Amino acid sequence: METRNSSLSATNLAVYHHLNCDLYLHNVYHKHTQPTTPDNVAHPEAQLLVDSQYQRGINWEATLYSWLDESNLLLKVPPMPLEAAVLYENILADDRSHFFIAGVTFDPPRASLRDRFEQAGTVPINFGVGKPDLIEITRDHQGITWKVIDAKASKSIKTSHHAQIYFYTLCLEYLLQYPAFKPSGEGGIWLPPDEGFNVVPPSISDIKSIEIPLLSRSLDSFLFERLPRLLSLPRDSVRWHFNPLCQGCKYNPECRSLAIESGRLGSMPNISISDAKTLQELLDLTEQGFPDFTRSSSDIEDLHQVVTNSEALSLLEQHFPIVAKKGKRILGVRRKALSDRQSAVTSSVLESARSGEIKVISRRNFTCPTNEDVAILISLIQDPATPRPQIEFFTVSLFDSLASEGQAYSGKGSRFIMVLATIIRELTSGDDARTAQFYVWSPAEQALLQTHLIRQALVGEVDREDIRLCIGALSQGASLLQTAFQPVLLSGALLAFLAKGKRLKAEYQACLARMELSTDGTVPELRARVEQALERLQGIGPQASRDSHEFGQLPRIVSVKKEIESMIALPIAGYWDLQECAKVLLGAGFNKPETEITDEKIFKTFKKDSDGVLEEILSLRNSTIYAILNAARRVVKHYGQNLLVNEGKKIMTEFMDVCRQDHLRKLFFMQQFEVLSKLNELWTTRMEGSPDAPVLQYRGSTSGVRGIEHTFTIVSGVVDVPASDKDISFFDKLLVEDLNSDTEIPLEAMFDDLAVSGLVIPLNRWTKPSWELQHPRVKGNVLLADLRNVQSLNGKLVVSLRTWGTATRQVLVPGRHYRLSPRFIDFNTTKVLSSLFEMDLRWENKEDQEFGDSGGEGIHDHRGVPFLQLVMEPRSFGRVPKAKESLTIEENTQRVFRNLKKLDVEPAGSLLLKPSQHRATQRLLANRLAVIWGPPGTGKTHTIALSILRLLEAQWKLDDRGQNIIFLTAMTHAAIDACQSKLERLIDCYRSIDFLELDWLDNIRIERVMRGNDHPPPARGSEATHIYAGTLYQLYNFSKRHNIQVDCVIADEAGQIALASLSLVLRSLSPTGRIIIAGDSEQLAPIFTGSYPRLKTAALFGSVLDCVMFSQGDGPVVRSVSQTDSQENTASSSQGTIIQLTENFRLNPDLGEFVATIYSHQFKPQKVQSRKLALRLQGIADMSGKSRDFGVNSHILAKMETFLLGLSDVMLRKPQSVLKAPRFRTNVPLAELDRETESQTISDPTHQPVSLSLIQLKTWSSSAEQFGYETHVHGEAAIAAALVAALRFCAPEDDIFVATPHRVQREAVKSALGRLKRPEKTLEETLEDVTIEEENYLDKVTVDTIERLQGSEASFVICLFSLPEVHSADLGFLLGRRRLNVAISRAKTLCILVTSSQVLCPPVSVFANEETAKGYAFLKAYEDRAWSCDVSVDVGGL
Ligand code: SF4
Repeated sequence: METRNSSLSATNLAVYHHLNCDLYLHNVYHKHTQPTTPDNVAHPEAQLLVDSQYQRGINWEATLYSWLDESNLLLKVPPMPLEAAVLYENILADDRSHFFIAGVTFDPPRASLRDRFEQAGTVPINFGVGKPDLIEITRDHQGITWKVIDAKASKSIKTSHHAQIYFYTLCLEYLLQYPAFKPSGEGGIWLPPDEGFNVVPPSISDIKSIEIPLLSRSLDSFLFERLPRLLSLPRDSVRWHFNPLCQGCKYNPECRSLAIESGRLGSMPNISISDAKTLQELLDLTEQGFPDFTRSSSDIEDLHQVVTNSEALSLLEQHFPIVAKKGKRILGVRRKALSDRQSAVTSSVLESARSGEIKVISRRNFTCPTNEDVAILISLIQDPATPRPQIEFFTVSLFDSLASEGQAYSGKGSRFIMVLATIIRELTSGDDARTAQFYVWSPAEQALLQTHLIRQALVGEVDREDIRLCIGALSQGASLLQTAFQPVLLSGALLAFLAKGKRLKAEYQACLARMELSTDGTVPELRARVEQALERLQGIGPQASRDSHEFGQLPRIVSVKKEIESMIALPIAGYWDLQECAKVLLGAGFNKPETEITDEKIFKTFKKDSDGVLEEILSLRNSTIYAILNAARRVVKHYGQNLLVNEGKKIMTEFMDVCRQDHLRKLFFMQQFEVLSKLNELWTTRMEGSPDAPVLQYRGSTSGVRGIEHTFTIVSGVVDVPASDKDISFFDKLLVEDLNSDTEIPLEAMFDDLAVSGLVIPLNRWTKPSWELQHPRVKGNVLLADLRNVQSLNGKLVVSLRTWGTATRQVLVPGRHYRLSPRFIDFNTTKVLSSLFEMDLRWENKEDQEFGDSGGEGIHDHRGVPFLQLVMEPRSFGRVPKAKESLTIEENTQRVFRNLKKLDVEPAGSLLLKPSQHRATQRLLANRLAVIWGPPGTGKTHTIALSILRLLEAQWKLDDRGQNIIFLTAMTHAAIDACQSKLERLIDCYRSIDFLELDWLDNIRIERVMRGNDHPPPARGSEATHIYAGTLYQLYNFSKRHNIQVDCVIADEAGQIALASLSLVLRSLSPTGRIIIAGDSEQLAPIFTGSYPRLKTAALFGSVLDCVMFSQGDGPVVRSVSQTDSQENTASSSQGTIIQLTENFRLNPDLGEFVATIYSHQFKPQKVQSRKLALRLQGIADMSGKSRDFGVNSHILAKMETFLLGLSDVMLRKPQSVLKAPRFRTNVPLAELDRETESQTISDPTHQPVSLSLIQLKTWSSSAEQFGYETHVHGEAAIAAALVAALRFCAPEDDIFVATPHRVQREAVKSALGRLKRPEKTLEETLEDVTIEEENYLDKVTVDTIERLQGSEASFVICLFSLPEVHSADLGFLLGRRRLNVAISRAKTLCILVTSSQVLCPPVSVFANEETAKGYAFLKAYEDRAWSCDVSVDVGGL
C-alpha cells in the first residue's frame, strides 16, 4: 500500500474532516499527480485570497505569542524535531509553574503507532512531522502536566481542529512518558475574542477545551481502522463526490472532468454530500424493489430512469415517502401536463446535466420580482485577514428603468449605513415613490447585510434614525411588525398616559415626540393632539392598518444566485459562482480578462489598487449581476409560463423605535428581531413547500364533546401533540392539501401569520375581520388546526384534530393527503414591548421631575426605575429600612425552631433553615435585591417560601402593616404550582405547632391567578398580605387591569425567564419594592430564535439570572460557601448579591456527586438511599411468577424485571451477572453527610446505594429492513412502560417521572402506559391491603417533556435519550447539557437513563458544537458512574 516516502500530516487529517472525501486522503498519501490542463495551472490571484485567509491565522498566532511573551507565559524552543529528554530539560530549566511552549516539533512515535495498527488488525501507515502551535505546561508538586493547544482564527470550533489536536495528543502521549510528564486529559483550541483580537487582548478563558477521551472513541476507529483500509483500496474504488466543498481542493480539475465523463452525481451543480447520499439511497431502494431496474455506469442516467418511470416513482413515494420527497426536491422533479389525461415526470436538473443545456425548472417563483423601477445592487467586501471580519468596502449601484446608465455609491464600511439611509430617503421621498428592489449576489452577502444591521442596532454607534430607516427597508417583515404592534402598543400606552389625569407640558411633548407628531402648542392643544392620536389608533386597529400586505413574502434583499438556482438548471458540474454563471447565461463575452469579476480578482484590487479602481470593478460586478438577473427573467419568460408571480414594490421603511433609553431600546429591538427571526424561519420553509411537514391522509370525521374531530393517518413525518389541555385550543397549525402540483404557490406561503397571531380561535365577530384580510386562496383552502390526540391503531399512527376556517367548499376529502405545518402564535410580544415602552416613558419623565436635564454627579443612569436598576446597577438596590431589627427577629425565629427540633417537635424540622439557606434568608430580609442560586435539589423553592414567611413575620412584629402585595412567578405552571404548594405546606407546619403566635400568618392570602383579566383585585382598604401566583403574562394582565402596585416580586426558575419578559411584572413594582430571584444557570435557558451579540456591559440578551450573574458592569459577587451564620450578619451589609445554596435534599450522595461534576462546588448530601429500596425491588421477582397480564410486551417486561433485580442485587452486595459495573465508583466521604440526617444507614455493610443506572437500547425489526425514528420511539416507549409496570408493582407508593426530550416520545409513552393493566389482586393481597385506599393505577406517574419537569422531583426518573442506529439528526438537541442535567437531577432515589450507541458513541463532528460537547461529557460522566445493561427490542414485533 505504501508509496515511497508517503505520509499524512495532521493538517491532511484536518482537511479530510473538512472535505469529508476519502479520495483526497488517498491522493495525498499515494502522491497522486493529476494531468496538467489549462484549468489547473496555479492562479496568482487565487493565491492572494487564500494567503489572506491564512494571514488571519498567522496574525492571530503572532498576537497570541506576543501577548504570552508580555505576560511572561511563553517559552520558545527551536523548530526542529525534539527529543522528549531535551524538552524535559527545557522545562526543568524554566522555574515558572505555568507557561506555554511554542515551536515544538516532533517525529511521530512510529513503533507505538505500528502496535496500535497491529492491534486493530490493519496495515500501518506513516505520519509526517507534528507541529502543535502550543503546549501548555502546568507544574505542581505532583509533576509536569501538559496539554496541546492549537491557535485557530475561526469564529467557532470545527471538527477539523479536533482531529488535529487529537492526533498531536495521541503522539505526544507516547513521546512524553509518565511519570516525568502527565497528560492533562484535555486538548484545547485557542480562538480569538469575539470583539476582534485587535480590540481585546487574548484571554486564557478563550481556550475551548475538550476532554481527549471524548474524541478517542471515533477518532481511534478512524485512524487505526478506517484510514488504513481506505488507503489500501485501489484508487477507483475510493469514495468521492464532486460538490461545492471541492472549491478548495487541489484535485478539483481532475475530479470535475471525471464527474462529467462518468455521469456521476457531481456532474450536476450544488449537490451536497448529504444530498448525494439521499440520491444514492433512492437508487439503492429502486434496485432492491424493482428487479427490472439495472444500474448502469452513470448515476445521471440511472436517476433519469427512476424519475421518468411513474410507476416506480409512485411506489417509492408510497413506501419510502421521506427519501422520495427529498430526492424529488433535490432534482427539481416536476409533473408536466401532456394532455388532459396524461402527464410526464421530468427533472430539469437531470435534463440539463444530460444535455449540457440551460433548462428552466418549472416552479412558480414569488421571491424574485418580475420587474421594478429601480434595482439596487449591493456588493460588499470583507477582508478575511482582519481580526474581526466586517464590511471593509461597499458599492451600491442603482439601475433605473428610465435611465440608460446606472449610478454608483461607494465607500469604506463605516459609511455604509449612512449612505444606504441617504439612498433610501431619496427613493422614498415624494408622493409617487417608485418601485424598488435590493439585490445582492449570494446568500452569504444577504446574511452579512442582515447581521451588520442587527449588530449596528444592538451595539453600533451609527445614527439612530439612519439605522431605523435601514432596518425598516431591509429587514424582512419589519413593516408588518410596525403595523401589527404600533397601533396596539401606542394606543395602550396612550390610554395609560391619559388615565393619569393632569400632565406636565414636557410629558405631553415627550409623548407626542414618540409618535412623530408636532410638539408645538399650549397644554390643552397638546392634550387634544394626544387624544386625537389615540382615537385614530383605536379606530384603525392592527388589521386595517395592514394595507402594506406583503403577498408571498417578497424578500427585502433578494439573493440573485439563490433565485437562479431555484429557477434555472445550469449545465455546470459541482458548483458555480458569478463568473461561471455569467459565462453560461450571458455568453462568451464574459470569458474575457477585462470582464473577469472573480472574488480573487476583486480581492486583489481591494488589496493593491485605489478606491477608484475598486469602485470600478465592484460597479462592473453589480452590473453583471443585474444583467444575469434580467437574462434569467428572459429565459423564464421564454419558457412560456408565468413563473415569476410578484412585481417589485415601493420601499417601506417603517420600523418601531420608540424607546429612548439605550438598554430599553436594545431590548425593544431584540424583541422585534425575535418575531422577525421566527417569521423568517417559517417563511423560508413555506417557500419550499414545507418539505419537512408531516403528511397526513384524511380518514373521516366524528362529532365529539368539543365539536367535530377529524381523523387522519400519518403518511410521513412526526406529529407532536400538546402536553395538556392548557396547550390545546391554540390552533397552532396550518392544514393544507399536499398537492402534487408543481406550479402553484404553496398555500402556507400566502398565509399572513401576524394578522391572527394574537387572536383566540375560533374567531368571533370582532376578530373575524382580521381573517378577512387574508388572501382569497388562504380563506378558501387553508384550515387552522388544533391537535387533539395521536394514538396507535392497528399499527398505524392516527391523528385527531379540530379545524377552523372559512372555506365554503369541502376542503377535506377522504383518502387525500394534507400537510400540517406550524403557524406563528404570539400573545405576548405586544405586552413585553408595551412594558418596555412604559418604563422608557417613566425613565424619561423622571429626568424632568427628579433629576433635571443636566444629569451630573450622583445621578444614576437608571433613574430609579427598578427594571433598569436590575439591568444596569443591581447593587444600587441597597438595604431596606430596619434591616438590623428584621435580622434580629429572624435570628430568634431560627433559634426557636432549632430548640423545638431538639425537643423532637416534628414540624420544626421543616421550618428550620439549613446554614446556606439561612444566609440566603438573611440576605433577602436585609436587602431589596436577593439572588438565590442553587443546583438541583438544594431547596431553592423551599428557601424562597420559608424566607417569605420569615420576612412577613418580621414585618408584622416591626409593626410594618398595611396592604402588602407580592407577585410570585416563573415560566412554567409546574414551577409556580410547586412554589405555591410549598408555601401552603409550610403554613400548615406553622399551624400544627400549638404554642406559636400566628396573628401574622392569619393575615396572609395566597391566590393563583389563572386569568389575569378576570381575577378579582384585593379588597379596597384591605390590610392583608396578598400573594398572587401566576405566569408573567397573567400577572401582567392582572396588574394592568387593576392598576396594582406591588411590594415584592419573586421570580423562581429565573434561568428560564428572558430578561425582557421580567419587565412584565417589574413594571408594577413600587420604587422601594423588593426583588427575589432564584434559579440555576446550569438548567434550561430561555429559547431565542435569533442570535444576538454578547454585550460587555450588560448581559441583555439572555435570562434574568444571566443578567444578574454575568453582567460585568456591576459585578455582583457570589458569596463564599464557607461563611458561617455569624459571619453573615456582617457580610449582609456588604455588596454581595448572590447566595449559593449548598445542602442537597433531593439527591443521594452518588447522584449528587455526579451532578456536581458540572458545578464548581460539591453538595452536602442530606439523605442517603435506604436499604428498603433494594428489598422492595426484590419484590419484582413475584411479577412473572403470578402469570398476570400487565398490558405490556412480556419479553420486554421480563428484561426489565431482570434489570431491576440486578440493581437490587448490587444494592444488597449480592453477586449478579446482569449488569456491567461502573468504570468509576463514587466515593463520597462520609464526613460530607449531615450527621443529623439518615447517617445511621450509611455504614450498613450489607447495602450499597445505587442511584445511577443505564439501559443501552438497540432497536431492530423482524418485519422491515428499514424503519424510522417514529418506530424506534415505540420500542423506547415499551421499555418505559415495562419499567413503570415493574416499579408500580414493587414500590406503589413512590412517584415516577418519565422524562422525554421530544413530545413525540411523550405521546408514545402515554399511549404505551394507556395499555397498561392494573394486575388483579390475589385474595391474599386483597385481604392484606384492606386499609389502603384505591387510587388510579397511574396517579403517581408523570410523563412529560423535560422543560415541563423543571422544578419538580420524583423517587424514580426514567429518562428517554435514545436514537435508532442510523439517525443522528437530533444529537445536538439530545446532548444539550442543561437538558440532561434537568432530566437526571429530578431523581430522588434512582435514575434510569435509556440511551443507545448512537448517542453514547456519536460522530466526532458533534463536538464542534461546544454545548453538545459539554452535554456529551456529562453523559459520559453518567455512563462511567452507572450500572448498565444492553437491551434489544424487536420493534417489528410490538
Ligand atoms: S476535488 Fe473534491 S472529490 Fe476530488 S479529491 Fe478533492 S474533495 Fe475529493
